[in-house]
Amino acid sequence: VKTLDLTVYENLRLENIQKMMRAKEKSAKVIGTYCTYCPRELILAAGAIPLSLCGTTEVPDEIEMPRNLCPLIKSSYGLAVTNKCPYFTLSDIVIGETTCDGKKKMFEILKSKGIKDVYVMHLPQMPDTKASLALWLEELRNLKTYLEKKLGITITDAALREAIHITNEESRARQRLFDLNKRKPALLSGLDMLNVSYQVMFLADPQESIRIIDDLAAEFETTAVSSGDETPEKRILLTGAPVGVGSEKIIRLVEECGAIVVAMENCGGYKTLGLRIDENNRSDPLLLMAQRYLKIPCSVMSPNRGRLDLLKTMVCDFQIDGVLDLTWQACHTYNIESYFIADMVKSKLGLPFLQLETDYSDSDVETLRVRIEAFLEMIE
Ligand code: SF4
Ligand code: SF4
Repeated sequence: VKTLDLTVYENLRLENIQKMMRAKEKSAKVIGTYCTYCPRELILAAGAIPLSLCGTTEVPDEIEMPRNLCPLIKSSYGLAVTNKCPYFTLSDIVIGETTCDGKKKMFEILKSKGIKDVYVMHLPQMPDTKASLALWLEELRNLKTYLEKKLGITITDAALREAIHITNEESRARQRLFDLNKRKPALLSGLDMLNVSYQVMFLADPQESIRIIDDLAAEFETTAVSSGDETPEKRILLTGAPVGVGSEKIIRLVEECGAIVVAMENCGGYKTLGLRIDENNRSDPLLLMAQRYLKIPCSVMSPNRGRLDLLKTMVCDFQIDGVLDLTWQACHTYNIESYFIADMVKSKLGLPFLQLETDYSDSDVETLRVRIEAFLEMIE
């Protein structure tokens, strides 16, 4: 694989903080989001800047959250209340969803602190029922009304359709980049793939991030033609809880042990990329969005068959040799759902499978390394 100069992307992200501050001086509004279920199109159509508030950095245990809580929730909360995240500070409003129990209760406390306007959407958790669709559509309508009142604007259908086009383009570009690793040998390490796709999520202008990803993918597509490297590689698919820069230790360990994370199914990876809205469909754009978001195969959904279907396709498309399922400590949904993933990967696909439960600290790195080495030895 070719190594990228990641400082370019890191610098872009940092420069964007200044850009956002200048935009705010000219009265632009920034809206922080915490989850893939947040309807980004509504924020774009409102003329505001959507910003992912990641929660991928370890925070001290002193914050008023239980110690044995998912590190992602602790991080999201800790960065907010300690004012250590420039993106949270920049946000005028933050939007949360009732996904897992930990997150929804965390949002209650965050709201009670009054540091920011916190708006929480009620996410139904049975993806296929009419009642869920009706409820989620109503939630989208409520968010639209909230944003219109709060920002003193009107969100038109035309603006929503334009926003749908932008988010479709974002998904198309990201998929183009991720698809580079369908080739054998893979073109990019999992760490580089994560770094680039993560850093560009913080750019204020979606067109800029689309262009950067397209340019990078185009560059690699050309390189691949001239590459004659046929070195055998162990190709790993990472599934499970979300990973970002700061919480990438599992990817780092896998690659230090000589394998490559060629594909990531989790949020930030492939989870939503295929769920694009048909831009020729003239139905109510909010209905199209509600239908699309309910298809996201997150473990908070019950049942969550979409994840199994997506994994099956990815194992085939990326010529996967083994599947690694990451569970953040105290995440019940991913932890328990691992039963179905293990069953499918081992019994139906006949591949080595490993579930790892960990947090953001480095205290278990050597134990994890031993387990990953043993897992990789199972791959011929
Ligand atoms: S894993 Fe589920 S709850 Fe977490 S960010 Fe993704 S969609 Fe949201
Ligand atoms: S990893 Fe699990 S517990 Fe943590 S925020 Fe996501 S769904 Fe909730």
